Amino acid sequence: MWIDSHCHLDAPEFDADRVEVLAAARAAGVGQLVLPAVAVAHFEPLQRLARAHGLAYALGIHPLFVEQAQDGDLECLQQALADAAADPLCVAVGEIGLDRFVPGLDLPRQQRFLQTQLALANAAGLPVILHTRRALDEVLAALRRQPVRGGIAHAFNGSAQQASQLLTLGLKLGFGGTLTFERSRRIRELARTLPPQALVLETDAPDIAPQWMQRSAAERAAGVTSRNTPAELPRIGATLAQLRGWTLEETASITRANTLVALPRLAPLPAVPDA
Ligand SMILES: [Zn+2]
Repeated sequence: MWIDSHCHLDAPEFDADRVEVLAAARAAGVGQLVLPAVAVAHFEPLQRLARAHGLAYALGIHPLFVEQAQDGDLECLQQALADAAADPLCVAVGEIGLDRFVPGLDLPRQQRFLQTQLALANAAGLPVILHTRRALDEVLAALRRQPVRGGIAHAFNGSAQQASQLLTLGLKLGFGGTLTFERSRRIRELARTLPPQALVLETDAPDIAPQWMQRSAAERAAGVTSRNTPAELPRIGATLAQLRGWTLEETASITRANTLVALPRLAPLPAVPDA
C-alpha cells in the first residue's frame, strides 16, 4: 500500500470526476491520501470530502493564499484546529510556508503567517506540512526560531546541506513528479543517497505532472496542460525504487513507515487493501 502524502483532491481541477480519481488511486494501490488545505474558505468542503472517504487532511493557509487572507483567518484556523482536535483525520497543520518563486508577493506577511501557524501547530500538538519554494533557507530560519513536532517539507527541491538541516529539525522530505525527470539531477541524486528514513512520496496533484504526462512544446503552446492525479504515485514510487535499488514492496513500505513517523495520527486510519 502506498501513501500519497500531499494531494489537493479538493482542487477545482477534480470537480468533474473526483470520486473516479480517488477510485483510480485506490485501484492503483494508494491506500491513503493526505489532503492539505490552502485557505480558510476551503476548510469545510475539504473536511467534508476527507470525512466522506476516510482521507487524512491538514488545515492551514498556503503562502500563495496569504495575500488574499484576512488577519482574522489565523484566528479561524486556530478555531478550526480546536474544533478538529478530536478528529483522527486531521493529521497536520498545512500547507504552510514561504514562496519566493511567484514574483511580487509580500514576504514579511508570508513570514508572519508562517510563524503564527508554526505556533498554532505546536499548540495543537500537530506536525506541519511545509511549502518551501525558492525559500528553503528562510523556512529553515523560521523553524529554528520555532522548532516543530516534525512533519514534511513537501516538494523538496534543495541542496544536500538544506536536506540535512531539515532532517536535523525532524522533518521528512517529500518527493514527487520532479523526481521522474532525467534533468532533475540534484533531486534524483539526493533521492538516491539520503538516509532511507528521510523520504516520503507525494503527487501534489493536480500539479507537478510526472515526466510521462508531459505535453509537447506544441501542445503547451496550444494551452493543453496535464492534470496530475494520485494514481500516479506508485509509478513515482517505481522511479524511487529504481534510483535506490529497492523493490517496489520495499519502497512502498519504507516510504509508508516514514510518512507515519512524520504524521503519527495517520497510523490508526483504516488501510484500504491493495487492488
Ligand atoms: Zn501543495
